[in-house]
Amino acid sequence: MRRRMVLTFVLAGVLAGCGGSEAAGDDRREVVAAFYPLAFAAAQVGGNAVAVENVTPAGAEPHDAELSARTVERLRGADVVLYLGDGFQPAVERAVAGARGEAVDLLDAVAVRRADGAESDPHVGLDPRRFAAIVERVGEVLGAPARAERLQERLRGLDRELALGLGSCRRRHIVTGHAAFGYLADRYGLEQVALSGVSPEAEPAPRELARLAAEVRRLRATTVFVETLASPRIAETIARETGARTATLNPIEGLTPAEQARGENYFSLMRANLGALRKALGCR
Ligand SMILES: [Zn+2]
Repeated sequence: MRRRMVLTFVLAGVLAGCGGSEAAGDDRREVVAAFYPLAFAAAQVGGNAVAVENVTPAGAEPHDAELSARTVERLRGADVVLYLGDGFQPAVERAVAGARGEAVDLLDAVAVRRADGAESDPHVGLDPRRFAAIVERVGEVLGAPARAERLQERLRGLDRELALGLGSCRRRHIVTGHAAFGYLADRYGLEQVALSGVSPEAEPAPRELARLAAEVRRLRATTVFVETLASPRIAETIARETGARTATLNPIEGLTPAEQARGENYFSLMRANLGALRKALGCR
């Protein structure tokens, strides 16, 4: 049984029958990742040499995620912990303070942008070049630079696809759920209009909603994007008021159980994002 699944069940508060399998005789390195993109990078780079656990369960939103005492214990006992610091997941940062193994803040591997004032933007995975820099660091940590390089090459290819696909569009403003797409917008010459803050919990007040609706009308945006892990309520309200449609733009902060079942991953979701953006922006 994959440990990631075990942890998922534990976090979901469900007593899975396979709980407590400390994988006797398993000499793989235990890597705990704070959320999906880091777990994906660790699994791709580490291959059979690692057992990766994701502390944010499928279908859960990672911002400000709370950890059970059991999960904190697993994290602290792991050989390697991969996370993003600077306030993205404070509970993870607190747990990391007592980690027995190597704890690596992967935000240190990239140039971080600051959103609206001083808050540092944790959505580095949505820029494939920054994600490649994170993968390189993961390769160093896991002692697998060649496998990391192969993944970096795929990410550079994805970056070229996105640059080409978004290179010639009629519109350039993207109306998004929370402000997750700043790096992506910066990289491909788009402008993000976010309905909530860097964290999805920061919902707009009614007056702010009216201002956003006016902004969407002024920009003649055809699409208001919703996410997979956060409530679509605000986006649907704005879309209704402005005559725009809604479509999914995935911040890839975690897979839903349905995405997991379909075998989706970072690359397939980024390509779905590219398709959604091209349609919304009228790209050639
Ligand atoms: Zn986010």
